Amino acid sequence: MLKLCRTDYDAIRRHGEETYPHECCGILLGTFNEDGTRVVTSTARCGNTRTDSAHNRYNIDPRELVRIQREGRDRGEDIVGFYHSHPDHPAQFSPTDLAEAHWFGCSYVITSVEKGNAVVTNSFELSGADESNKRLLDEKVEVV
Ligand SMILES: [Zn+2]
Repeated sequence: MLKLCRTDYDAIRRHGEETYPHECCGILLGTFNEDGTRVVTSTARCGNTRTDSAHNRYNIDPRELVRIQREGRDRGEDIVGFYHSHPDHPAQFSPTDLAEAHWFGCSYVITSVEKGNAVVTNSFELSGADESNKRLLDEKVEVV
């Protein structure tokens, strides 16, 4: 399960509306509860480096990822997930999304944005023992 406050939830959705018709992407920072719940305490926007196909691909610059991870650690936050938007596509992960997901135990949040308006926001947990049997599982999103 993913828990986040209304402000962070809205920020993720608004980011997708602002970058429409391109995909937005960003990082979720927070803590892992003992029961496996991820609790988001802040979000970080990232630039989408995929200028060739920004409407249906996203990529986070590794240097930006490292910087955000370091800044989070300074505040006592871990990376607990990632988010991106699907302009005019359902909030379901694509085969590419699964292939490019590597953070086991983290949340992958997808928001569908139709005609510039954020519609559905879903989250998936990357599960599995390694790259060969990884899968994205539906998880509950609780906005508190
Ligand atoms: Zn996607």
